[in-house]
Amino acid sequence: MSEVPRLPDEFAGLQVLVAPWDSERALLPAPPRLLVREGRLALRGEARGDRDERGVLWLPYAPRVDGDTRQRYAEVHGRRQRLLMARLRCQVCGRPSLHVPGRGTAYLLPYAPPETLLPVREAGEWRYALEANPPVCAEHLRTGPLWCDGLRRVRGWTVAWVLRAPVSGVQGYVYDLDDLERPPVLDYVPRGDPRLGAVVAVQLVRSLERVSVGESCPPGA
Ligand SMILES: [Zn+2]
Repeated sequence: MSEVPRLPDEFAGLQVLVAPWDSERALLPAPPRLLVREGRLALRGEARGDRDERGVLWLPYAPRVDGDTRQRYAEVHGRRQRLLMARLRCQVCGRPSLHVPGRGTAYLLPYAPPETLLPVREAGEWRYALEANPPVCAEHLRTGPLWCDGLRRVRGWTVAWVLRAPVSGVQGYVYDLDDLERPPVLDYVPRGDPRLGAVVAVQLVRSLERVSVGESCPPGA
């Protein structure tokens, strides 16, 4: 007997916090709105929420329009991703993520062979997998693969249990401070990197330092 609740087969009507609503378009800034102030990127008319507590600028989004009921599930709303990831909240509902003592926090990720999630020792140094998907709560760990078409059919899924995953940096658009007209390059920028003053961040990234890989299902299985 299955204890998994029945859910709609498709996403329709389901709300996923980390995904943008259709009207929430990313507004990649360009001059003259984007400028350099005190040696770092700034926005003309910058608002309080435009930077995080470390002073990193975040990608602005158009607000959700009243009556917009469609979400783009394959995409990420960067500002919500940052809050969910920073607070280890469920990426679907925003409730506290599942944490099991001794196992860690539950992440439901697109399918990944276990060795790609585990730390690797290279030339005497540990190299860790980087992750931008926020974790999930107990309910969505169980039900995510059922209703998420992308995980179920397209990408497959892997459960990772993570005991230690410090915030390690951001993924974002890196600008040339000497020439803001140049198209920015999307890159991972670690904490402490001087390029943090030249980045418009899109996602908060954690480094998976103590991981065990749980159940998984490759795409198409
Ligand atoms: Zn949840």
